[in-house]
Amino acid sequence: MSKVIIGVDLGGTNVKTAIVTPDKEVLSKDSRPTHAGEGPVAVFEAMEASARDAMQAVDVTPEDVLAAGFGAPGPMNWRTGVVYSPPNLPGWKDVPLADEMAKRLGVPCYVDNDANVACYGEYWLGAGQGTESMVVLTLGTGVGGGIVVFGRLLRGIDGTAAELGHLKVQRDGRACGCGNRGCLEAYASVTGMVKTAVENLAKYPDSKLNLLCDGRPDTITGKMISDAAGEGDAFARWVFQETATWLGIGIGSLINMQNPEKVVLCGGMIAAGDLLFKPVREAVRANCFEVPGNRCEIVPAGLGGDAGVIGSAGCALDRYQRENAG
Ligand SMILES: [Zn+2]
Repeated sequence: MSKVIIGVDLGGTNVKTAIVTPDKEVLSKDSRPTHAGEGPVAVFEAMEASARDAMQAVDVTPEDVLAAGFGAPGPMNWRTGVVYSPPNLPGWKDVPLADEMAKRLGVPCYVDNDANVACYGEYWLGAGQGTESMVVLTLGTGVGGGIVVFGRLLRGIDGTAAELGHLKVQRDGRACGCGNRGCLEAYASVTGMVKTAVENLAKYPDSKLNLLCDGRPDTITGKMISDAAGEGDAFARWVFQETATWLGIGIGSLINMQNPEKVVLCGGMIAAGDLLFKPVREAVRANCFEVPGNRCEIVPAGLGGDAGVIGSAGCALDRYQRENAG
């Protein structure tokens, strides 16, 4: 059997593992609780058990494994595989994740930022397959991102590149969780979209959203806005339009900078389909040069929740091959 790669997606709630071949065939998968509240050792044990069970399911031993890749929450040093102190992994401080897991599994281990591996997953096996220049934006509670250029992740000198949620789109704009103001995330995340709805709802007393939230704007969710827009509610559609315009400003700048083949959008918000993509495509074209704007396709993600685990494997393969080339 040719050698395989282990991909591990370390989230605050669940650890996911996949055994993947260099030809991108997913042989087996495993998922289990992270036990993040119990500290680093419990998390190591969960990752080791998950990897061993996924290996056992397809009769793979450590001798059959080329490398293992871990997508973990940052901040971190991706070169050394040391994870500093992620907010959703309590008790972690300068944890040598790559070394520890290499000891436990007996295979070379690589660690990368979770947003970057999810981007790499879409590049390797998802909606960005076949491109060599692409951008991923994940629209969730915040806005995450990743950039691939020349078939490689753009990491930057300190590994902090592609914090796309914190592109500034407005001077002195809305406060962002990062401490700055006017970041893309403050407008184009689901949280930002909800904020836009809440701030403007009083002006639209006839909107269906008033009924859906039972007169309590503080309970409005992205899904309510999406449902109301789907039923043709003019205010909810305006909220999508507004969110799409902010996204178009951010994505337009990225396109002017990078001239990518594709921008892949991920996260729960993409379930809105054309309600989101149509105004985003229009706003993008209005905010960048014509040639790169017409060239770039704005498309939904292809891997859903598996982008991280598959990207962790793909990234580890890429790093192993580069380290061991010639
Ligand atoms: Zn920010």
